Amino acid sequence: MTQGSRVVVVGAGPTGLFTALGLARKGAQVTVIDAEPRVNDSPRANVYMLSTIKALDEYGLLEDALRVAARGYEFNMRFPLTGNVARLKFELLEGLTYTYTLHFGQNVLAEILLKHFLELPGAQMRWNTRFVSLAQKADGVEVSVESEGVQDVIEADWMVGADGARSSVRKALDLEFGGFTWPETFMATNVYYDFDKHGYAASNMVAAGADWHVVAKVSDDGLWRIAYGEDANLTEEQRRARIPDRFANFLPDRAEFELERANSYRVHQRCASSMRVGRVLLAGDAAHATNPIGGMGFTSGVQDAKALVDALGRVIAGDCDDDILDYYSSERRRVFLQIANPSAIDQKRRVQETDREVRLKDEAEFMAATTNPEIAKMAMMSVFQLEGKPYQPGRKA
Ligand SMILES: Cc1cc2nc3c(=O)[nH]c(=O)nc-3n(C[C@H](O)[C@H](O)[C@H](O)COP(=O)(O)OP(=O)(O)OC[C@H]3O[C@@H](n4cnc5c(N)ncnc54)[C@H](O)[C@@H]3O)c2cc1C
Repeated sequence: MTQGSRVVVVGAGPTGLFTALGLARKGAQVTVIDAEPRVNDSPRANVYMLSTIKALDEYGLLEDALRVAARGYEFNMRFPLTGNVARLKFELLEGLTYTYTLHFGQNVLAEILLKHFLELPGAQMRWNTRFVSLAQKADGVEVSVESEGVQDVIEADWMVGADGARSSVRKALDLEFGGFTWPETFMATNVYYDFDKHGYAASNMVAAGADWHVVAKVSDDGLWRIAYGEDANLTEEQRRARIPDRFANFLPDRAEFELERANSYRVHQRCASSMRVGRVLLAGDAAHATNPIGGMGFTSGVQDAKALVDALGRVIAGDCDDDILDYYSSERRRVFLQIANPSAIDQKRRVQETDREVRLKDEAEFMAATTNPEIAKMAMMSVFQLEGKPYQPGRKA
């Protein structure tokens, strides 16, 4: 590693901080900037799949995660049409290192990453600092930022845009973000309610047509996520006012619940036309956006971060030509477009399906998986495909 290689990471979300931590560990001087004053704690990712747990372990973060996380040992697909529940148990993955999902807010993960990052020499976190524009030179990037009304330029050798789905970095690079936006809004609520009592697993999808919803544990103190679709034409106030009525269809015994927070999101299936332009790389939601049913979002983002740390780390160290960065871009786009994107679209279709015959067919498939360990194993292991293929010089994705 060329001592003093300077990297600016835009965005202190989980993808940006994971990337920053990895590069700083390799000796780069990493500055993370974020427009907000602190880690964003809106209710988003709270389920971490096997491949993400492996990534956390490889980065020495699993112990910290296990300290705060609830664990899930099965995934349930619930079919209100017949009352059946397909219970896919992780114990079917006998012999593997990770046989559970982890559950905790992505803001908690970001705090863990930030703590480890700030322990490293050369690591800097600048809150309230908004990316404005960039200028590329042959040997570096000038990153223009604005902090509390004051303009500044940060000189860097490399820059990473991990600034989320509305990425200003992606826009500054003039990249297309092709795909589409779903017509409905997703409501994500955190709620205290005793789903354990009703036999729910830590992760559940409820295939109930227009009343589809996802129920997932956030923590062991009784906090759960309920996510569902709402009319995008309603105001946020109207969506919130409808929560008790909507919950009446979701809560098994219609008992009292305590709403902790609620937020709505527009969701997309989109991918940037490239994840590299010169010395600027994109990662996470800045590069690709997906609906969250099935948890493909950060599950993809963390694999971007790992791949980017490896690729950029090798370029900075002088071990590789920079064509490894083109490989990073093409391989990560391939993984999103061929694996994460179709899988998330399919999961959404299944939970929202209204055709009775198709619902029964979907149900039969899921129920078969619960009694056939090989099918169940394949389904649960499929997230490892998101790791992508390792770089070999000259290989195109
Ligand atoms: C309801 C919901 C549930 C989800 N559940 C899951 C799940 O269970 N599992 C899963 O894997 N994924 C899930 N996701 C997806 C997951 O939340 C995202 O994939 C994840 O947040 C992506 O992280 P990121 O770091 O790439 O971007 P973000 O988390 O969006 O972080 C971007 C950061 O960039 C900063 N920023 C933006 N613009 C600028 C600027 N101009 N200058 C400086 N800083 C800027 C922002 O302040 C923010 O801190 C869910 C998403 C939603 C909406």
